[in-house]
Amino acid sequence: MTIKDLPEGEDIAQIRQSVRRLCADFAPDYWRQLDRDNAYPSDFVKALSDAGYLSVLIPEEYGGSGLPLSAAAAILEEVQRAGANGAACHAQMYIMGALLRHGSEAQKQKYLPGIAAGELRLQAFGVTEPTSGTDTTSIKTFARREGDHYVVNGQKVWTSRAEHSDLMLLLARTTPKEEAEKRTAGMSVLIVDMREALKDGMTIKPIRTMMNHATTEVFFDSVRVPADNLIGEEGRGFRYILSGMNAERILIAAECIGDAKWFIEKASAYAGERRVFGRPIGQNQGVQFPIARAYAQMRAAELMVHQAARMFEAGEDCGEQANMAKMLAAEASWAAAEACVQTHGGFGFAEEYDVERKFRETRLYQVAPISTNLILSYLSEHVLGLPRSY
Ligand SMILES: Cc1cc2nc3c(=O)[nH]c(=O)nc-3n(C[C@H](O)[C@H](O)[C@H](O)COP(=O)(O)OP(=O)(O)OC[C@H]3O[C@@H](n4cnc5c(N)ncnc54)[C@H](O)[C@@H]3O)c2cc1C
Repeated sequence: MTIKDLPEGEDIAQIRQSVRRLCADFAPDYWRQLDRDNAYPSDFVKALSDAGYLSVLIPEEYGGSGLPLSAAAAILEEVQRAGANGAACHAQMYIMGALLRHGSEAQKQKYLPGIAAGELRLQAFGVTEPTSGTDTTSIKTFARREGDHYVVNGQKVWTSRAEHSDLMLLLARTTPKEEAEKRTAGMSVLIVDMREALKDGMTIKPIRTMMNHATTEVFFDSVRVPADNLIGEEGRGFRYILSGMNAERILIAAECIGDAKWFIEKASAYAGERRVFGRPIGQNQGVQFPIARAYAQMRAAELMVHQAARMFEAGEDCGEQANMAKMLAAEASWAAAEACVQTHGGFGFAEEYDVERKFRETRLYQVAPISTNLILSYLSEHVLGLPRSY
């Protein structure tokens, strides 16, 4: 059983086909071994970069292919649907958005062509800190201006792919919260050249997690960053980070749709084959219904992903749709994961079926990059007009 794609343009359908072909070269065994070793999928990421998939959102004038967000969403959906793990590199697609939208022409010329060619990796995003959590305006990492440099001190946590990135997009305070005109002011975005920073006070410490995710803690001890690496204006960094969130949410939602399809196809196939009591287990409605329900959830979420992407591409405000797409898709992938494990019975726990690995991987998306409660809170306050709760 193969889930049919929703109607979309011929170009996107072709992209899907080619991503499927590329992913087919990376058999389940490849992912199992990496998971066992907690290792980074360098070959897979190289193949995606070489094929130009990670630079589709970079305009052609900077060496990318200048495709719309729905093309990027289709790529990531197919990666997940093939049983692969796009978390190893999805950020290379969208972190550069802050640079593209708010960077100077000189900064774009300096970095974007290298990123588009896959020679320069900008896939580390330093926002979250141990003591501030979701309350981003309370970050403590501080960048103090000294002549033509900023001197950065502080700590980030959950900085994924930091060990596999040349550059980091860093959000730091340049004015203490208490002195800023409002809590969202006084933060700035810097491009940190991690190759230099590693020689100058930056240290990276991996965090082992329940899935293979290459995530880390990053410590800054008087790290000097050239003032030329400031994106946009000092103090307005929070706005720049927020402006990239809709794209990130839509792309992560597309990944969850891909995961959901993988689980549903896998569960349906197994339910059709596995015979217990002399008949396929899938003949029992108790086995069918959770899979069918997850399918319905996935289809509804998929429509929301498509709507959010269309609005994003039309330049409309899609905060509501992007947030809902992310929440619904993450819930749909989790429902599908749950149904898939249950359908497989004991084999759902066996490494060789890949279900348990994908189950662990997809759980993340109800927490990161934004947790479900925070999405509900956004909808309550900004869409329904309910009182602000924090
Ligand atoms: C594997 C992984 C990779 C990550 N990668 C990155 C990365 O590359 N870069 C980066 O900057 N960050 C990254 N993150 C961080 C991620 O964005 C945060 O974990 C997430 O936003 C939640 O923040 P927190 O963990 O501090 O939870 P907390 O803010 O401590 O929240 C804990 C729980 O309380 C709930 N909660 C908190 N406040 C409220 C409230 N006011 N109302 C209702 N509920 C509330 C939350 O929803 C959550 O469920 C990653 C996280 C993980 C686990």
